Amino acid sequence: MTEIAASANDVESRISTNLDSVRTRIADAARRSGRDPADILLVVVTKTVGVREILCAADLGVEIVGENRVHEAAAKRDRVGDRVKWHMVGHLQRRKARDAVSIFDCIHSVDSLALAEQIDKRCAAAGKTMPVLFEVNASGEETKFGLSPDETPAVIRQASSLEHIRIEGLMTMAPLVPDPEEARPCFRKLARLAESVERERIPNVALRHLSMGMTNDFEVAVEEGSTMVRVGTAIFGADR
Ligand SMILES: *Cc1c(COP(=O)(O)O)cnc(C)c1O
Repeated sequence: MTEIAASANDVESRISTNLDSVRTRIADAARRSGRDPADILLVVVTKTVGVREILCAADLGVEIVGENRVHEAAAKRDRVGDRVKWHMVGHLQRRKARDAVSIFDCIHSVDSLALAEQIDKRCAAAGKTMPVLFEVNASGEETKFGLSPDETPAVIRQASSLEHIRIEGLMTMAPLVPDPEEARPCFRKLARLAESVERERIPNVALRHLSMGMTNDFEVAVEEGSTMVRVGTAIFGADR
């Protein structure tokens, strides 16, 4: 065996081991909080990793990958195709909505009514309906994208009349803190916000998904009701 082949196998076995460990930790966190592990989707964040690693993840049963740049995702999707679902998890500029609509199967990061309208318009032209989540800046950090919790219900009410998006949930990014317990209030806030919007029974809105939890805090997020954890570093390593 050549050295190159050997090191490629190392990469694959490392991804396999890491994936097993993440899946086990998600299932354990679910059971701890009385939830069914099957209710939590793992979005494997593949930004900055290559096509080879994505194909490896797909071989290991990964069904959803998350990307944060439209053009990077487009290039990868050209080569990987529909073996996995492609979710947009990063900030999306309005002028890239058309490309995003053609590449992605779900957009987690809708952070304004204007962006929702743009996605709707591009979907109408393409003859499709896009599942979307609204990103909420639950921690209130100035550096973060997202709607404020206060404005979220009104934006969702307004966006609910758009016919080519399907509003399926909320997404947030917790502050990067050394102790994941410190992220818990942020996740709890998102869950409460989703519950209060659900109580309004807005037509065409069913907030089934909470996209929350990353490498540093996904177990706490699952305990607080996450249905989509977005994990990259714990699977591919920090030096990817
Ligand atoms: C990079 C990224 C993730 C994954 O973060 P890790 O800490 O590598 O698990 C999740 N969500 C978003 C929006 C990201 O940009």
